Amino acid sequence: MKIVMLGAPGAGKGTQAQMLAKKYDIPHVSTGDIFRMNIKNGTELGLEAKKYMDQGLLVPDELTVRILLDRVAKDDCKNGYVLDGFPRTIPQANVLEDALTKLGDKIDYAINVDVPDENIIRRMGGRRACLACGATYHIEHVPPKKEGICDKCGQELVLRDDDKPETVKNRLQVYKEQTQPLIDFYTERGVLHNVDGTKDMNEVFEAIVAILN
Ligand code: ADP
Ligand code: AMP
Repeated sequence: MKIVMLGAPGAGKGTQAQMLAKKYDIPHVSTGDIFRMNIKNGTELGLEAKKYMDQGLLVPDELTVRILLDRVAKDDCKNGYVLDGFPRTIPQANVLEDALTKLGDKIDYAINVDVPDENIIRRMGGRRACLACGATYHIEHVPPKKEGICDKCGQELVLRDDDKPETVKNRLQVYKEQTQPLIDFYTERGVLHNVDGTKDMNEVFEAIVAILN
């Protein structure tokens, strides 16, 4: 099963993707997590990606596509995966579609997690991320058991540099211009499903599972 998660930054794609990955035993592939891991490890890719991420801009397609195609070619992806944060542009979606078509394959579901802008701004200010394992928390809605510490791996949680209010505004703008058109792209392919992302995360999850079943 190959799933694409769509939605504005902060809509809850990562939260749902992690839950889906666990339930269906498929990898959660987040290009944002891959970039953040590279930034943390000081790699050349990380340095390049950071230039764009800190401004709320997209990392160029060429670089992002290469990273993603390498990742999904790995053995653990052979039974499917849940993509979170990719594709984010029409050219990215086309490259993914072409690569899958060559393998006689396709995206089975595109799930659009729908959340209005005002909720997004609140969610991102309260988001805390674990840069070691990619887990995500929210200081009010999804707090960790111990403040500032990841439940899953014990590392310190951080406010992402790109979750500061001025960057969030840019990211929403970039989303509307470059990523929202993917809703039409996947609607045309007959695989798009909308879920109401303002509900409690477990209710959102149930709605998605009902679609996949
Ligand atoms: P995305 O991957 O789309 O950027 P996240 O999954 O990181 O979004 O979620 C953004 C923030 O909102 C996080 O702090 C997360 O814990 C919180 N969150 C996710 N889903 C919900 C929900 N249904 N209700 C309230 N808060 C949520
Ligand atoms: P995310 O963790 O999905 O919110 O992504 C954080 C940031 O990483 C984005 O704001 C972009 O700068 C960059 N990024 C992640 N995925 C992509 C992608 N598919 N295309 C371009 N940039 C990306």
